Amino acid sequence: MEQIQWMGLYLEEVKQRLAEMGEKPFRAGQVFAWLHKGARFEDMTNLSLALREKLAASGIDQPVTVRETRVSKLDGTKKFLFALTDGNCVEGVLMRYHYGATLCISTQVGCKMGCRFCASTLEGCVRNLTAAEMLGEVQCANKDLDGERVHNIVLMGSGEPMDNYDEVVRFLRLVSHPDGLNIGLRHISVSTCGLVPQMKRFAEEGLPVTLSLSLHAPNDEIRRTIMPVANRYTIEETLDACRYYIEKTGRRVVMEYALIDGVNASAECAEELATRLRGMQCHVNLIPLNTVKERNLYGVTESQVQAFLSVLEKRHISATRRREMGDDIEGACGQLRKKVLREDKT
Ligand code: SAH
Repeated sequence: MEQIQWMGLYLEEVKQRLAEMGEKPFRAGQVFAWLHKGARFEDMTNLSLALREKLAASGIDQPVTVRETRVSKLDGTKKFLFALTDGNCVEGVLMRYHYGATLCISTQVGCKMGCRFCASTLEGCVRNLTAAEMLGEVQCANKDLDGERVHNIVLMGSGEPMDNYDEVVRFLRLVSHPDGLNIGLRHISVSTCGLVPQMKRFAEEGLPVTLSLSLHAPNDEIRRTIMPVANRYTIEETLDACRYYIEKTGRRVVMEYALIDGVNASAECAEELATRLRGMQCHVNLIPLNTVKERNLYGVTESQVQAFLSVLEKRHISATRRREMGDDIEGACGQLRKKVLREDKT
């Protein structure tokens, strides 16, 4: 029989499932609140023992556990390797900022987008995560925080959120539910490599999250050398989707730009980028690439970052250099999972 992932159900769906099991509808609110507090069925003490047992037989309460953690000595950033019930694992990163704890979560096991600089995509996409599993990542981090709670979430771990559209939208609605974790949508960022049709659809969901675009190049020629998705959609089509998002939501879009030595980091690239983004309600996040030796792609020096930044500033493009965290714990996407997969094989 199918195992129900109870945490991934909307309140109405919990009601319906309980009704099918011959239970009263008001139990749904109790079950929903317990699950989103991180409780196991056996902890749900205001339910009868018989119901708790029935629930446990029907499916899963908390679908994610922590398999491994690592803490950065540099800044306290914590990296989790999360285990899923089918034996797969994904990564998450917990960063402590002055404005609150920020959790980076994964949306797929692996990724099929094939960006040349990204470790998450090296072994392809194994499967989508369910909404319940994404919620489970947040639950694990909350338990680890012991009192403090996750305040901001970024969907920037492994996976392409727009390639797992339905479960990501379901996750966003559930994680911001007032009877659940109640994390404000304004405190959530969704990052995409630029799947244009889904970006447009996402603009119409009425979810005031921050949309980040992994742009990484000022023109299609360069972008095609590092991101296969650039063969499907041109930068202009992609920026049009961003403009549509801005128009629909009133929110600015963040442009992610990883500086890669000899590829996209020159002053000419900065000028071309500034021209592209002129007049757009956006903010550029610059970060030196986390070097990927296997692919011959290298990061840049601090002075190269500052030079690029100053061109953008001169051209009145809002931009900052993103702070790197957890450099000593394989903080970048996919790196820890890759390492553990390697160790599992040997
Ligand atoms: N698939 C989504 C979200 C996951 S990646 C996306 O493409 O946006 C999160 C961010 O990390 C993206 O901006 C991605 O381009 C970036 N990234 C991946 N590998 C990187 C590396 N080696 N160095 C710096 N940034 C990297």
